[in-house]
Amino acid sequence: MSTVMEPPKKAGADYTNQILNLVKAKNPAEPEFHQAVMEVFESLRPVLERHPEYHEAKILERITEPERVLMFRVPWFDDQGKVQVNRGFRIEMNSAIGPYKGGLRFHPSVNLGILKFLAFEQVFKNSLTTLPMGGGKGGSDFDPKGKSDNEVMRFCQSFMTELCRHIGPDTDVPAGDIGVGGREIGFMFGQYKRLRNEFTGVLTGKGLAWGGSLIRPEATGYGCVYFANEMLKTRKDTLEGKVCLISGSGNVSQYTVEKLLDLGAKPVTLSDSDGSIYDADGIDRDKLAFVMELKNNRRGRIQEYTSKFKKAIYSATDKKLDHNWLWNIKADCAFPSATQNEINAKDAANLIKNGVKVVSEGANMPSTLEATKAFLDAKVLYGPAKAANAGGVATSGLEMAQNSMRISWTREEVDDRLHKIMIAIHQNCYETAEKYGTPGNLVNGANIAGFLKVANSMLDQGLV
Ligand code: NDP
Repeated sequence: MSTVMEPPKKAGADYTNQILNLVKAKNPAEPEFHQAVMEVFESLRPVLERHPEYHEAKILERITEPERVLMFRVPWFDDQGKVQVNRGFRIEMNSAIGPYKGGLRFHPSVNLGILKFLAFEQVFKNSLTTLPMGGGKGGSDFDPKGKSDNEVMRFCQSFMTELCRHIGPDTDVPAGDIGVGGREIGFMFGQYKRLRNEFTGVLTGKGLAWGGSLIRPEATGYGCVYFANEMLKTRKDTLEGKVCLISGSGNVSQYTVEKLLDLGAKPVTLSDSDGSIYDADGIDRDKLAFVMELKNNRRGRIQEYTSKFKKAIYSATDKKLDHNWLWNIKADCAFPSATQNEINAKDAANLIKNGVKVVSEGANMPSTLEATKAFLDAKVLYGPAKAANAGGVATSGLEMAQNSMRISWTREEVDDRLHKIMIAIHQNCYETAEKYGTPGNLVNGANIAGFLKVANSMLDQGLV
């Protein structure tokens, strides 16, 4: 890099500040989107100083503007025969390196700003996977909790009746996210097939009998643990015997616990939006099987864990508290796997005070900007979401490849590919961080490496 011309000193900062102000002005009341853009721009300053061509081509203006935003009405009948109306979204953010790809989230908190932050993050994450996938995200403010299977089906069918006009196996391939698992993907796939009269790989996370991939349900959690292991290797350490905090108790959390057990670690916490459990003896395979049955079949609350396993402690969520009880438990590793901004500055300080060595993010943007800075300053091994949780979308990419070839790989084959992808992502982030003068800062490594591939593809493709 030493042959690069001497950059104008503040060019990167000036350009990012200017565009960040523009993003805030054009997208008011979208704080999560601003936060995600701010974090990426902060990392990109040295890149923009070395590459004035990105400024000339207005890459930052273009990369923060979705290629297309779809917002639509989703009407459906509940079990009492009453009309319900939700709002549906799909953000088609960037297709420079492949068809739009990213999950659908069904949760009452869903709004345009949250989905734009998720779609923006997805662009860089997908770029890091080494696979040809653009970035998108979608969902609805529909809450599947407390709904019957028939209500969920009617909602999914209505949602897909509109969405099916905009997606396709070579255009936009949605997957699951919070509130969207195998059940919801099944209902949406069925409706797409019926309306379009096509059996195609238009969604990922499908059932095994109808085009799904082995290891896709496990992939985000497994990948996040593989990433943590790679980070530890740089300090000649392993997960063996490490006490681990996991938040959430959904798809990502469950398979994070499973892979931690495979690698000899000791997971001790789980949570849901009502509260958290702490099991000092460790969550073993039998206890995990109980959680999977509780969450995936009975759709119950995590508090039930303590009725079954009496030595575990439950703490109800207290929204008035300035920190999260779970992150104040002494541990070596933290795997936030529930939702955005679940670790604030106080939580980060608590984790650091208690000696945390590794934070590997299963959820998307679970740490606030202040928490991220605290981890980096304290030299904690910190795996940012867009790198650490990329195993899910990477395996969705593998599902698309199998669908295109009309074949199915074995469990071992998919897991091996996932593992190699996570090693490659870590290596890319690690080396890029070093190359741009911030060794060990995987936030910079992930943002810069993810950006370069997309930005260069945008330059190649002209002004579109
Ligand atoms: P699930 O719906 O399976 O589980 C979500 C879990 O997080 C539940 O335990 C839920 O509790 C909890 N949760 C959700 N929202 C909140 C909230 N506002 N406050 C407290 N707890 C909350 O989702 P996933 O496991 O699929 O997703 C978890 C995270 O991982 C998300 O950030 C998602 O974007 C990210 N992710 C998921 C991928 C995937 O492949 N599934 C891929 C990459 C990232 P409750 O049931 O009470 O709502």
